[in-house]
Amino acid sequence: MSDTVRTVDVLVVGGGPAGSATAITATRAGRSVLLVDKATFPRDKCCGDGLTTLALRLGEQLGLDPTPIGGWQPVEDAVIHSPSGRSVRFPLPRGDGRYAVVVPRREYDAALLSLARTAGTEVTEGQAVTGIDVDDAGATVTVDEMSRIRAATVVAADGMWSPVRRILGLSTDDDRGQWHAFRQYVSNVGLAAADLHVWFEADLLPGYAWSFPLPGGRANVGFGILRGGPVAVGATGRIWDELMDRPAIRSVLGDHALPEDRRTAWPIPAKVDRAVLDHGPVLFVGDAAAATDALTGEGIGQALLTGILAGEAVLA
Ligand SMILES: Cc1cc2nc3c(=O)[nH]c(=O)nc-3n(C[C@H](O)[C@H](O)[C@H](O)COP(=O)(O)OP(=O)(O)OC[C@H]3O[C@@H](n4cnc5c(N)ncnc54)[C@H](O)[C@@H]3O)c2cc1C
Repeated sequence: MSDTVRTVDVLVVGGGPAGSATAITATRAGRSVLLVDKATFPRDKCCGDGLTTLALRLGEQLGLDPTPIGGWQPVEDAVIHSPSGRSVRFPLPRGDGRYAVVVPRREYDAALLSLARTAGTEVTEGQAVTGIDVDDAGATVTVDEMSRIRAATVVAADGMWSPVRRILGLSTDDDRGQWHAFRQYVSNVGLAAADLHVWFEADLLPGYAWSFPLPGGRANVGFGILRGGPVAVGATGRIWDELMDRPAIRSVLGDHALPEDRRTAWPIPAKVDRAVLDHGPVLFVGDAAAATDALTGEGIGQALLTGILAGEAVLA
């Protein structure tokens, strides 16, 4: 362990949407900010890749320019399929800004992190936070069990399993996620998959399946179930094996749709009302604050919002 201790105003742990939004906000206000992520960007995140109106408006507020972002797919219509098989098309407002976009997280998160760098945030990739000691004046954080950083405020934007929360001994059994969701990229999809589709399949309720459009005849396809609901988490692999062949879903994806690469699954935390949001000089944001929408499981907009709020809080 090095004896040298660096000092910054704010240390952000995690470079997803929550961490980047925190860093951009605090850096622009004149704070010295170091953001550390264990991954090297661009990196994937198991996600539906759907940007809702909240995420789009907050992205604009942060100054995110979508023009150079690869895979940025605006959505024109959303089609909702009921358990009885009825389908309803909802055209999104035209000519008045965007209301829904799909973009691979690999591209989106890298663009946000790049925006943080441009704002002046120092970013360290490929190094994990492995320790944290808090005291009355701030926190001392250990990175890769080697270097130490002293910060007046630490913002834990380290995702669903939040190592910072775990190291501080604040994790509970309730931190395994309220939803559990699968995702796979699919290529060669049919023309109907150019719209955003949500299927409320009877056996998955209150969960749902989705197909979110991407450029080049691709789609992000997946489904989520409520943990503790009628579908056991252990049964989701079997459901995934036959989901794409359900007639309602196959008719949209088309007969020639090809699953790419491997499928991924990840929990979604949705209990911000009873999550630990702060601990001395440590603030929790995004999935680390279980801030996703309890009804839909969407969390990118909520990650941006809680990140911006944390960035503003360190200025107070
Ligand atoms: C299958 C699925 C589908 C979803 N679909 C959607 C959707 O369509 N739309 C939507 O809005 N939301 C969706 N969500 C939710 C969304 O993915 C999350 O809410 C969002 O990623 C939260 O962002 P975040 O910045 O808090 O965390 P993350 O994006 O998880 O980022 C956390 C970062 O912390 C880093 N990290 C972790 N540990 C350490 C450490 N020890 N040291 C340093 N860095 C560390 C990680 O490398 C990572 O980069 C979905 C989730 C799932 C599982």
